[in-house]
Amino acid sequence: MARYTGASCRLCRRENLKLFLKGDRCYGDKCAFERRPYAPGQHGQRRGGKFSDYQLQLREKQKVKRIYGVLERQFRKYYYHAEKQKGITGTNLLLLLECRFDNTIYRMGFANSRNQARQLIRHNHFLINNKRVNIPSYQVKVGDTVEVKQGSREATSISGAMETVIRRGIPIWIELEKGNFKGKLLAFPNREDLTMPIQEQLIIELYSK
Ligand code: SF4
Repeated sequence: MARYTGASCRLCRRENLKLFLKGDRCYGDKCAFERRPYAPGQHGQRRGGKFSDYQLQLREKQKVKRIYGVLERQFRKYYYHAEKQKGITGTNLLLLLECRFDNTIYRMGFANSRNQARQLIRHNHFLINNKRVNIPSYQVKVGDTVEVKQGSREATSISGAMETVIRRGIPIWIELEKGNFKGKLLAFPNREDLTMPIQEQLIIELYSK
C-alpha cells in the first residue's frame, strides 16, 4: 500500500488551503498554514500571476488526492470507475472517495485524521458487519455497520479521537452509537453535503483530455 510519507503541512501550503491532514494540530494555533500561508520552498512567497487552465485543473486534482490521501495510480482508477457509473462523473468520483473505509472511520470520529484512520485499519482495530477488514481502500456500502473491535476500545488514540471529532460534529449520512463504538453508513452523501471547496469538474476536464 503506497502512501505519501512527506511533510503534510507542506501540502496545505502548496494547495493554499487547509486540508486538515494532522488532526488536532489543524485546529490550533500551531497550524503551519496559519503561520505561513504561502507556498513552500525558496520562491514560495514570490509565486503569483494567473494560472493557466491546465494549472487550475492540475491543482484541483492534486488537492483532492491529498485530502483523501490517495496517490495518482489509485486516483486514476477511481476516475475510470466513476466514469463507468451512471450519473455525474465528478460526483461519482467524490462518492467513491467518501466511501473509502479510512475516510468512513475518520467521518465516524474513530480517528483524528484520515492518515490515523489508515494506520488503525492496518492494525486490525475495526470490523465491518462483524468481519475483520484491514484494507483502507475498502468501499463501505450503505447499511454497513462499522465497529471498533472489543479489545481495541480502550486504545487511547481511538477514544481520544472520538471525543474531539464528535465535538466537531458527525455528518448526517452517518449514524453513530458512541457507547457501543459503532457507526452505520445510512446513505451516500449528497454532493451539497460535502463542504470542502472542490471543483470536481476541473478534474474531469483534466482526465478527459
Ligand atoms: Fe494543514 Fe495546518 Fe493541518 Fe498542517 S496543521 S496539515 S497546515 S491544516
